[in-house]
Amino acid sequence: MTGLTPDAHAPSLAKIASSAYDSILEVIGSVEPRIADATRQELTDQRGSLKLIASENYASLPVLLTMGTWFSDKYAEGTIGHRFYAGCQNVDTVEAVAAEHARELFGAPYAYAQPHSGIDANLTAFWAILAHRVEGPELEKLGAKNVNELSDADWEELRGKLGNQRLLGMSLDSGGHLTHGFRPNISGKMFHQQQYGTDPTTQLLDYDAVRAKAHEFKPLIIVAGYSAYPRRVNFAKMREIADEVGATLMVDMAHFAGLVAGKVFTGDEDPVPHAHVTTTTTHKSLRGPRGGLVLAQEEYAPSVDRGCPLVLGGPLSHMMAAKAVALAEARRPDFQTYAQSIADNAQSLAEGLLKRGGKLVTGGTDNHIVLLDVTSFGLTGRQAESALLDAGVVTNRNSVPQDPNGAWYTSGVRIGTPALTTRGFGHDEFDKVAELMVEVLSNTQPGQTKAGGPSKATYVLADGVADRVKAQSAEMLDKHPLYPGLELT
Ligand code: PLP
Repeated sequence: MTGLTPDAHAPSLAKIASSAYDSILEVIGSVEPRIADATRQELTDQRGSLKLIASENYASLPVLLTMGTWFSDKYAEGTIGHRFYAGCQNVDTVEAVAAEHARELFGAPYAYAQPHSGIDANLTAFWAILAHRVEGPELEKLGAKNVNELSDADWEELRGKLGNQRLLGMSLDSGGHLTHGFRPNISGKMFHQQQYGTDPTTQLLDYDAVRAKAHEFKPLIIVAGYSAYPRRVNFAKMREIADEVGATLMVDMAHFAGLVAGKVFTGDEDPVPHAHVTTTTTHKSLRGPRGGLVLAQEEYAPSVDRGCPLVLGGPLSHMMAAKAVALAEARRPDFQTYAQSIADNAQSLAEGLLKRGGKLVTGGTDNHIVLLDVTSFGLTGRQAESALLDAGVVTNRNSVPQDPNGAWYTSGVRIGTPALTTRGFGHDEFDKVAELMVEVLSNTQPGQTKAGGPSKATYVLADGVADRVKAQSAEMLDKHPLYPGLELT
């Protein structure tokens, strides 16, 4: 399996894992057979489809196995060596190892391994920044050590200040994420938010426009990072802009952390040395368990450390253990080969789509994401996503800049290379994936509403296409098995 550490995926290990999973599923099935069956079926389904969801991957067997242990049963609110529960010595080890690997891997002065997910990592970071920039100075001014020492009137004033700060983030239709200050998410309710977008012609991030917006809006926080922007970001420039207006630069590298870990993004494209605070998920291109991390410069560390119980519940020790294992894998040299292959494969996919008439947002990619504008096929993102799924090609619909179809139907399909790269797909396979996608989309027609008008949701996929595409995908998938050697009885 390309990119996965050989020792972590040696056939002997898969053999041991096979009997382990057989036993585990038998134990689970003795209590609730439907869950055991669904677990078996999920493996079959994942093995049998082209997984192109840009935010998904396949964690290694050591990572998966680490999640299912008795660490799940331990409460450990607090920080390493300073817990509100007794008996946390082993959790301390787990958290310290996870944080050590994260610091070493990303070259970060400080790492916090507790966030349960990306949303939680961002929430932790936002409150850490508010504590450091607003609450701390206010307490100092009032001569108080903590908020409990404040009078009711002072506390009310501080609450008003905490709830009245400004945040500048990337717009959703340019590829930003809901947690970057948008109304449906708590971040949009906490902050006054304004957005920067991309250039209407090139669809690329326009740093001059970001700078102008920052000078006009004067945010406390500038958030960089994205979930659907197919290009690299110059974080040194973003920091320059933040410094000009006195803002804290927070980078959410949830999507591309694997490319940072694998040294594909270095220098100005590596967010960690430039951002005051960097957040990430651990389960996307980083290929770990579901979870989050916060990395920070020293000055923000004490505030980040307050994540639990400020905004997080008790840490999920079994997940921190799995993060430690995944981060250890990512520190091995072959992870760099894997990360480079993610980017190379995205190029192959983009070229394959372009040469077959596909229209790509920004005209291409230089990360792990390809954003295909499906309006050239006469389809909405919703229709394209559904037709592709019928043919076993798993993508997700996504807005394109200034999307005429809105955030629900959309005009694009987001495609990512991390998962199939883990399976060992290379240039030829990704070119074939492009061919299969174009075959599906060019054989799909928009359907009609019940009233007979044009529908944005229904579609008609020509007979035989789905089966033809599935058969050709199966050939590639069989050549690159998921968890080779893992056989369940
Ligand atoms: N940040 C970004 C940029 C993301 O793309 C995502 C998830 O899609 C998140 C945060 C949230 O991650 P999670 O689903 O783990 O909460």
